[in-house]
Amino acid sequence: MERLQKVIAQSGVASRRKAEELIRQGQVEVNDKIVTEMGVKVAKGDKIAVSGVPITQEENVYFMLYKPRGVISAVSDDKGRKVVTDFLPGVSERIYPVGRLDYDTTGLLLLTNDGDFANALTHPKHEVDKTYIAKVKGVPFPHDLKPLTKGVKIDGWKTAPAQYRIISTDNEKKTAIVELIIHEGRNHQVKKMLEAVGFPVTKLKRELYGNLDLVGLKPGQYRALSRKEISSLM
Ligand code: URA
Repeated sequence: MERLQKVIAQSGVASRRKAEELIRQGQVEVNDKIVTEMGVKVAKGDKIAVSGVPITQEENVYFMLYKPRGVISAVSDDKGRKVVTDFLPGVSERIYPVGRLDYDTTGLLLLTNDGDFANALTHPKHEVDKTYIAKVKGVPFPHDLKPLTKGVKIDGWKTAPAQYRIISTDNEKKTAIVELIIHEGRNHQVKKMLEAVGFPVTKLKRELYGNLDLVGLKPGQYRALSRKEISSLM
């Protein structure tokens, strides 16, 4: 059983807020009866209509994609560039990415049609660790990156404490590979954090989302999440 406004939002005809408004206005019918109170639950077989037009109910689906470089974290692009949903052609539900990875960032991206799940995971208070592997310009000593563990100022706000590990350094090429674990997810956050301590990122991959990893996937490949994996994120 799902809440009526959620089912309406999932069908794509209106946002959840708009769906609530439509219910209040008496525009929504369940099994041919107008429903105006909030919080009514509906089952899979229930007939739902919005402004007289029947909607189709979708199952909630959850996937992870190994996002390649050069792909937009969106469902469409007005410049015709590749978008992440192009990599899940067999999925007929209206899925969208949970948060975003930059165009040039690779790695683990979640996609779903479950708005509650997506909102919960992208809420600033939701503390799921995300682990990134960054190639940086310059060769840091551990103390150079120490400020990241206390939080650094970017764009006028302070990041939450993060964990880091220097995986390798190349003194000849003056580059290093750094692991950074954060639970926030603001725009370009990892790039800005490493830039703030003097080590600009030249390559970035999201290796883990919580404890989910990309094992078994190549760039461009995807798989469904198991129930256990879904609940491990909530
Ligand atoms: N941080 C970034 O800077 N870019 C990403 O794509 C993800 C996190």
